[in-house]
This record gives sequence, C-alpha cells and structure tokens, in this order.
Amino acid sequence: MTETGYIHSYTTASAHDGPGLRTVVWTTGCHFRCQYCHNPDTWHLTAGRKVCAATLVEELACYAPFIHATGGGVTISGGEPLVQAPFTLSVLRGCKARGFHTALDTNGFLGDCLTDEDLTAIDLVILDLKSYLPETHRLVTGKEVAPVLRFARRLAALGRPTWVRFVLVPGLTNGQANLEGLATFMVELDNLERVEVLPFHQLGRTKWDQLGLSYPLTCTPPASPEAVARVVALFRAHGLRVVEA
Ligand code: SF4
Repeated sequence: MTETGYIHSYTTASAHDGPGLRTVVWTTGCHFRCQYCHNPDTWHLTAGRKVCAATLVEELACYAPFIHATGGGVTISGGEPLVQAPFTLSVLRGCKARGFHTALDTNGFLGDCLTDEDLTAIDLVILDLKSYLPETHRLVTGKEVAPVLRFARRLAALGRPTWVRFVLVPGLTNGQANLEGLATFMVELDNLERVEVLPFHQLGRTKWDQLGLSYPLTCTPPASPEAVARVVALFRAHGLRVVEA
C-alpha cells in the first residue's frame, strides 16, 4: 500500500455518513463546482495535507475499538474522493483488511474508474445525486449528469449497497420535472437502501466568504420543512425508502 494522496482532515463520531458512528476522511480535489457546496476549501487537491495511504490507515486504526463498539466504520468523503481513486481505493482496502465497514461518499461522475473488483472493497456507496435533468445538473454542478446516472445503474446491476443523497434547493433543484425524473430513475435501482433528502440552508456560505468566493445562492431561502416533506412524500409515493436528514 504505497499510494499517497491529499486529505483535508478526518473527523470521528459522525452519525450522518453511513451506519453507526463513522470516522470520516475528507479528501481534497473536486471537479464539480456545486452552487451550494459546503466545502469549497476542499476543491483544490493540494490544499490538503499529503499522506501515505498506509500511514492514514494506521491512524484510523487507533479508533478501532470505538468504531467496532458503535457498529460504525470508515467513510471516505471530500471533495470528491475519486479524483484520487488509487489513493482512495488503497485506504478503503486497508480499512477493510482491518475489519472496518467501509463507505465511499461520491458524486459518482468518475465511477467508471472503479473496476467491479474495486467495488467489492466498498461496503456502501453514498451517491450524491445532485439532480436528474441534464440542464439542472449542469447548472448545479457545472458537469454532465450522464456519467453519474451510468454509475448508479452499474451499482444496481452489481447489487452494491447504495444510499442516495439529494439536496433540495429552492429555485434550483426543486422543479417538478427534476423531482419526478429523479424518483422514476431511483425506483429502478433495486440496490437502494435509502434516499436522504437534505434541505438547503445558508450555513455553507461562510467558507465561500472566507475564501473570497462569490456565493451564488446568497438570495436563495432555506428549503422549508414543508417543502422537504412534499419531496419525501413524492419519493415515498414511488415506493422509495426515504429519510429526512
Ligand atoms: S461534489 Fe461535493 S465537494 Fe464537490 S463541489 Fe459538489 S458539494 Fe462541493
């Protein structure tokens, strides 16, 4: 395990990034530019600290008693971890060899770079589906949706456990055609264990300001609980197992 990569940091005891309490590694480097990104400080690869995968796994192993006691595991997030796919895979394989449940939180765009065998090192994929309609996805992220949907279908074909996360942004991702398209697409994926609907809020703005970046959603209100409930109801009506995050 000689791969080196860049990470922003890692945190412990997250209850939101997979089953149990998670130790979450935040990698740097992302090719998306989501309008609501909470972590613009992870966009550039070399903004992180360089670390050897083996060293990182050793550090994470210090939390083994805690991880096992809570039924948790290790989640690699970012940034976009697949920007550094060899490093990310090396860390995931190292964690799996130590008996940790492993999760990959990804936007899915670079999923083609993972082989079917690579995917066996990942117990859970948390797929951030930013939108379904191509024009909406392009507007939200600056990138095409097709590779993301292709990866989602491949995970389903392989029967890999997957959670989907969707951020509801008023005036951006909440169009009826986008939501209906998303629901219709997801219901075809019989590997989906859950769908999370997250309300947009303005808390991410601080980092944009600190980095001197112009925040595109300054005038966008938070998604209301009622709006989230309507989307949850729509997805559930399609037979999806949805949780409000
Ligand atoms: S994929 Fe994640 S890290 Fe990348 S821009 Fe979007 S929200 Fe930010």
